[in-house]
Amino acid sequence: MADIEYLKSQLGVHPDFPKKGIVFLDIFPLLRNPVAFETLITNLIHHLTSHTIPASPSKKIDVVVGLDARGFLLGPIIAMRLGAAFVPVRKKGKLPGQCVSATYVKEYGEDSFEMQSDAIKPGQTVVVIDDLIATGGSAKAAGELISVQGGKTLEYLFIIELTFLKGGSKLDAPVYSIVQSD
Ligand code: 5GP
Repeated sequence: MADIEYLKSQLGVHPDFPKKGIVFLDIFPLLRNPVAFETLITNLIHHLTSHTIPASPSKKIDVVVGLDARGFLLGPIIAMRLGAAFVPVRKKGKLPGQCVSATYVKEYGEDSFEMQSDAIKPGQTVVVIDDLIATGGSAKAAGELISVQGGKTLEYLFIIELTFLKGGSKLDAPVYSIVQSD
C-alpha cells in the first residue's frame, strides 16, 4: 500500500493537456526516478508471478504485448524478467511485413493499431501492457489483434486506470492497475 501511494506521488498531473478539459496523468516523472521505476516493475512482476491469474493457474506467460508508445517503455523489461517474448502493437503504417490491423476510437480521435502477422502463435498466452487505460478502446483493439492470431489474452496491465470510464468492461480479460483515478 505504501508503495502504491509512493508511485502515485511520482505521477505528473497536467490539466488541459492535450486539450482543454482533459487532465493528463504523466508517467515520465516516475520513470526519471530509478527507485520509483524499480518499485513499479517489482510490483508488476510480483503480481504476474505470485498471484493466480484466473485464466492461467499455471502462471505461464508466453508473450508480453506493449502498446504504442508508452507500453514500449514497460513491456520489454517485463518480458525479459518473465523470460517471455515482447511484441509491439504500433500505430498503422509503422511495422514492416505483413500485419493484422484493428481500428479503435480513443479519448481524443480515431486510430488503427497493427501487429506483425507472425508475432503470436496459436495457443500462446499473452498479457497486454500500457501506461494508462481510459475508455479501453486501444486495449480492446490490441485484444482483437491477439485473438485473430489465436493468442489467449490472460490480463491487461496498466500503471493507471481511469475507473470512471469503465474501460475494463470492454475487454476480454481482467484488468490489473496499480493506481486508480476517479
Ligand atoms: P483509451 O484507448 O483507453 O481511451 O486510451 C488509452 C491510451 O491513451 C493509452 O495509450 C494512453 O497512453 C493514452 N492516454 C489517454 N489519456 C492519458 C493520460 O491522461 N495520461 C497518459 N499517460 N496517457 C493517456
